[in-house]
Amino acid sequence: MQGTVECTRCHAHMESGWVPDNTHAGLQQENWSPGEPQPSFWTGLKVEKKDIVIPVTTFRCPNCGYLESYAIPQSQNGVLVSGTSSSQRQRTAVLIALGVMALMMALGVVFLIRVR
Ligand SMILES: [Zn+2]
Repeated sequence: MQGTVECTRCHAHMESGWVPDNTHAGLQQENWSPGEPQPSFWTGLKVEKKDIVIPVTTFRCPNCGYLESYAIPQSQNGVLVSGTSSSQRQRTAVLIALGVMALMMALGVVFLIRVR
């Protein structure tokens, strides 16, 4: 987000930042998603419209600590950049776990064949 933002409480200039989300994949930038959160058996919550996920920029007032958040699509060289949804990250983690399990099973079969 361009320009300066003034604190609505004490009128000081606010500083730009972001609120980290602590996930299994490490720290991620908080994202905004439309609609109500829908429960998911596998991922806790699921994103309804995966193409509409916007990173959240949060401004902090250094004077009074007031926080103000904006979900504006970020652009780099005129190209819109959308954040990856948490369900996409979790799906990737599940695929990696399945791949590791398949590899372990294959190694177990090879080990059993060699023992005989
Ligand atoms: Zn303030």
